[in-house]
Amino acid sequence: MERPWITGDCWLGCERTEVLVIWLGPVQWDGQHAPFYACEPCLDRLKAQALAYFMEQRPASA
Ligand SMILES: [Zn+2]
Repeated sequence: MERPWITGDCWLGCERTEVLVIWLGPVQWDGQHAPFYACEPCLDRLKAQALAYFMEQRPASA
């Protein structure tokens, strides 16, 4: 399942604008909602971090 890439602003800290970004989901903070977009380098960083998190959650013994 592919999500569409659109041109927009990255929300993940690189502060780039008018780049290809992908929608990751809504951000909820203090009762407000905002769309959360990430560019490809930031998405790769996030995916690596998420993967490390999943590996930690996995039971050590099989
Ligand atoms: Zn970015």
